[in-house]
Amino acid sequence: MDKQLQDLVKISNIVGVDSSLVQGGGGNTSVKSDDGKYMYIKASGTALKDMNSKRGWRRLKKDAVLDILADKSLAKMKVKARELAMVKRLLAAGDDNVRSNVRPSVECPMHAVLEECVIHLHAITVQAYTSAKNGKAEILRLFKNEPTPPLWIPYANPGFELGHKVFSLVSRYTKKYGRKPGVLFMQKHGLLVTADTAEGALRLVRKVIRRCRAGLGKAKRVNRPAVSKKQIEECKRNVARALFETTGAKTEVVFCLNPTIKRFLAEKNPGQMLRCGALTPDELAFLNGPILWLNDAKYETVEAKIRKALKTDQSRPTAFVIRNVGLFIATEPALVPVARDVATGSLFVRRNARNMGGINALTGKQRDFIKKWEAEQFRVQLAAKGLNAKKSPRR
Ligand SMILES: [Zn+2]
Repeated sequence: MDKQLQDLVKISNIVGVDSSLVQGGGGNTSVKSDDGKYMYIKASGTALKDMNSKRGWRRLKKDAVLDILADKSLAKMKVKARELAMVKRLLAAGDDNVRSNVRPSVECPMHAVLEECVIHLHAITVQAYTSAKNGKAEILRLFKNEPTPPLWIPYANPGFELGHKVFSLVSRYTKKYGRKPGVLFMQKHGLLVTADTAEGALRLVRKVIRRCRAGLGKAKRVNRPAVSKKQIEECKRNVARALFETTGAKTEVVFCLNPTIKRFLAEKNPGQMLRCGALTPDELAFLNGPILWLNDAKYETVEAKIRKALKTDQSRPTAFVIRNVGLFIATEPALVPVARDVATGSLFVRRNARNMGGINALTGKQRDFIKKWEAEQFRVQLAAKGLNAKKSPRR
């Protein structure tokens, strides 16, 4: 096995087992060859923790990937056609013995413009800043003593537009500071780090997470009243029945409670933090919109709330937080672990972002793009088939 592939599998497995860094098949990694001709990159839909020497990656010709960003005709195409053309071009850039229909990560172009080793994570500690109104100012303050500052990437639609934005901001940064940025914060999305070695990239991840966590302050221990089995069963029954009555879907409902959820429930006005829409593309894709807040679990309350959500632009809700009880997930069994991790992450991010000038959720336009985006639907379909939804550890 090539040293680069070895490094890719190693870093992917290390960061991939931590559901506070990536959830389900989210996040991606890449390592370039010494001669700069090739890049190994995670395949779309595979979880980082499940990558090994045989599966979960592609080797691409780096120049063919950079050509995509330079192609002016792509920039002029309509969104749907352009994103499909980009997937085709990424598949055509493949130079390996992997089945030719295994897609390289669609976030590939932004990897091509960075250093040898790249790690991209949907780390909730970072998202607390990237989804906060004052997040950028807080990040610049936290890293103000570094020789060169981190780079803040304003939100861009994933795929081609994000690749372009990273490319142009990295070029500008390189001109100004004489080197590429090592740490990039992606608004409403996550973290991107890059270094010339795998160890260097992992070190950067640890450093950033440590500093961001310290900036959030120590989370207090909270004591919540015990929830009875009877209460949980009643909530599950009412959510399942209301979903069936409103959408015709028969779904098993799973109860979750952990310290992050307890802390959220103990906040002042927790329901208010769920009023804004989905925070990130993952939340929209795996939870079908924001988590629904329920003041109580009476059947009428649940049904009315689901009907209201369906009237807005939300498709069948997947996650519910019930006052003084906990989180309930209603989705296909293979998607439960990722939906649970994404929902728990969202509760963590919302609570912390509220203390940083307020929560900065996706706008209606940004949500519309994700809903129509073929690559995201593809990823959710793979996850639903259970390809990347093996048990992930509880946060
Ligand atoms: Zn991402």
